Amino acid sequence: PFTVYNHKTGIYASRLPPPKVPLTSVYDFCLGNVSFDDAGAAITICSTGQTISYGQLKLRSQQFGLGLLTKAKLKPGDTILVALHSSIDFAVCVMAAQFAGLQVALANPDYARRELKHVYNLVKPKKVIIHSTHLGRAAAASIKTFTVVLTDTKLGRGGVLSIGELLADEASAKAAKSYMPGDLNTTAYLPSSSGTTGLPKAVQISHKNLVSMLSMNLNIPGYIPDALSGEQLRVLTFLPFFHAIGLVGQLHLVLKTRGQLFILRPFTPDSLCKAVPEHKINMIGMVPPALTKLMKHPGLSRDTFATVKNVRCGGAPLDAETEAKFLQLTGVEVKQGWGMTELTVAGLDASSGQQTPGSVGCLIPGTLAKVVDVSTREPVEPGQRGELLIKGDQVFRGYVSNPEETKASFTEDGFFRTGDIVTVDPRTGEFSIVDRLKELIKYQGYQVAPADLEGVLISHPKIAAAAVVGRYDKENGTELPCAFVELSVDAQQQQHLSKHALAEEIDQFVRSKVSHHKFLRGGIYFVDKVPVGASGKILRKDVRAMLKSLEQG
Ligand code: ATP
Ligand code: MG
Repeated sequence: PFTVYNHKTGIYASRLPPPKVPLTSVYDFCLGNVSFDDAGAAITICSTGQTISYGQLKLRSQQFGLGLLTKAKLKPGDTILVALHSSIDFAVCVMAAQFAGLQVALANPDYARRELKHVYNLVKPKKVIIHSTHLGRAAAASIKTFTVVLTDTKLGRGGVLSIGELLADEASAKAAKSYMPGDLNTTAYLPSSSGTTGLPKAVQISHKNLVSMLSMNLNIPGYIPDALSGEQLRVLTFLPFFHAIGLVGQLHLVLKTRGQLFILRPFTPDSLCKAVPEHKINMIGMVPPALTKLMKHPGLSRDTFATVKNVRCGGAPLDAETEAKFLQLTGVEVKQGWGMTELTVAGLDASSGQQTPGSVGCLIPGTLAKVVDVSTREPVEPGQRGELLIKGDQVFRGYVSNPEETKASFTEDGFFRTGDIVTVDPRTGEFSIVDRLKELIKYQGYQVAPADLEGVLISHPKIAAAAVVGRYDKENGTELPCAFVELSVDAQQQQHLSKHALAEEIDQFVRSKVSHHKFLRGGIYFVDKVPVGASGKILRKDVRAMLKSLEQG
């Protein structure tokens, strides 16, 4: 087994040796060794071919970083909010801020006004970097302190500047030294969690967290495909850089390893199937809804994926059947990872285990875990369900402006309470995610994991996406699992299909695959779209709101 379990303490550890973590800042770790004349391509935009080299990225980052200090009058330790889509500018902005020693808060530029305002009020940034097309939204969220916007034209409005106006001259930028915090526990990033269970939380990620995280991942044999042939990493990304997976698992990982990152926006199965062979992609980062959409695309084949060595998937549950089918279609294994914004990005990874389909693998090097009973808080025996607790240098420092929640998230012995329910295979030491503690449906005393039922539902050929929530049945005093189903394009076009007959067919299908207590007794509803967040998660809180409005009207 890849996991060591101590029966006395209930602590699991990785059998892989912990990495040697350099004592340095995020900037120096990723770009410190790059020279200004390095012509190697760093980031390419798939749709336009626009590319920035490593040398240019470093120079631009230092010019803008120095400009943020000298022209925008920021000081190391100040917070800025970057609310941008994945782009070359995004990379320049965050690396510039890291060069200058700023704390970089991140937000989805497409956030609704309420969410944007929430994050803004939480992190209280000195400046906001936002694209000019999002200025209206920012103004609507009463954000007034944006001094920087991404546009090359002067807008002539008070306080609004373009990046071009803030660049320091080349010579000073090249001569300037990057900021090195005296204490590496200083905050580098303030990413927002996905906001799946409520409003997003701003999470404090230190330089040490991020440098440790990447070192841990790179210590997993075969985590990146270069181990196979020494070839350069060529990663396709369509996940947002403002979220942990895109930021750490893709942008910083690629910069650290001097690979090339290809940004595909927006993601469509068709554009992906074209981009992969065109750019000879060897690694792709996925989230489950994108993966299932891709698998229904006729263009997906072993040929399209001929150069791909590594497909990673995380952020939400993925079942064994889908993994097996993907392998059949493409000849490439999907390697799952599990993580949270609070863990910088990851805690468990399939590459660190024997890769049983459907499992999220084993602990990554340098990480400890416990699995505890949710009521007694005592460790459960391997094989039994419990809440996953994690300890390691990638664990965040706390939530911004929320000491109560921070305190409640840690046990007395310093483990972080993830809120996820897991089991550990006693033979292989591999972890499987059941669902979030808060999402479990209780049917007559049995626990039903919505994620499990959703996996079964999407394996039905007529279903494109599905979300399961509990519906309270007053008469019987219990929750009943009910499903919201988005039909596949094919099924939607078959006008003759009656909704009633379809619901019956789906119900029977589920009954043939799951045990008695998991049957969809709460009903099956058809919807145009199952709500999915930017980081690829089903927003069950929104689904519950849909259910409520159905029940009321
Ligand atoms: P919020 O905390 O704001 O409600 P969130 O928890 O979805 O949102 P993230 O930090 O992006 O925000 O996501 C972490 C969560 O994603 C984990 O707690 C877990 O429930 C889920 N998750 C991540 N990877 C996997 C995976 N491979 N399988 C199942 N669930 C996963
Ligand atoms: Mg969370």
